Amino acid sequence: MFGKSTLLAALAASVLTLPAQDITEYVDIRPGTLPILLTVPHGGDLKPESILARRYGVTTKDANTAELSLMIIEEMQQQFGGAPHAIICRLHRSKVDCNRELAEATQGDPIATAAWQRFHGAATEIRKQITQRFGSGLTLDLHGHRHVDPRVELGYLIPGTQLNNSDAALNTDGRFKSMSSIHELARRSPLNFAELLRGPQSLGALLEARDYHSIPSPSKPSPGTAIYFSGSYTILAHGSRDSGSISAIQIECPWEGVRDTEANQRSFAKAFTAAVGEYFGLHFQYPLGPVKK
Ligand SMILES: [Zn+2]
Repeated sequence: MFGKSTLLAALAASVLTLPAQDITEYVDIRPGTLPILLTVPHGGDLKPESILARRYGVTTKDANTAELSLMIIEEMQQQFGGAPHAIICRLHRSKVDCNRELAEATQGDPIATAAWQRFHGAATEIRKQITQRFGSGLTLDLHGHRHVDPRVELGYLIPGTQLNNSDAALNTDGRFKSMSSIHELARRSPLNFAELLRGPQSLGALLEARDYHSIPSPSKPSPGTAIYFSGSYTILAHGSRDSGSISAIQIECPWEGVRDTEANQRSFAKAFTAAVGEYFGLHFQYPLGPVKK
């Protein structure tokens, strides 16, 4: 009879003896058919001994975000008849951080570097495919936070200190639009920039309509002095700040009510998927589906 601990030890050993070059195990790439790229850099558990531990930067994982992403894929399949493209890092954040630039992400480790390149190489390739097929699209970068205020934090590369500006300031100073990860969407939208970030048609409003408190949103337009995550490398590299027509939003999920139980993950996946569908109809002018209609 194998006890549970024996079985776990055997499983752990099998992970540790994976070939060092077998980076396909470390970055799970799931091709889809929708004009959406779902990235999950911090949900991994694997800690192969062949990769050196990172020596600086954040090394804690975003618990249950990989699980949540699989439910979002299922919900999109159900609600839109097609799956998003998805890239899920299976390595623990103590081994690689795919939401940082290469030097901080891998700290020189060659296998971590190969995993990081697989993650971002795939994202670049998928963005090209989406652009060719649909003309535009959206990267959604999924994370988890444990801030005191359990809201969904939506990151557009606009730091909290800047979000504290008035709508008038956000609209008149063109720098805000051009520093954001939805730059292309903002350029072609008939809405002004503050409306896109926190008006009634913002993603925050569409999530709040489904009972998930969010920031920025009409009810909580800016963080004030509270900690708020505005996004990092993934939405910078795979959004439209500098070029292209794939915009990006970082989705930081609170623990309570969203990531904590399977039932809550499922409810959030359903609501989030519906909100993204509505967002698409509003800002991309065609219904979300595997074929552009
Ligand atoms: Zn994260």
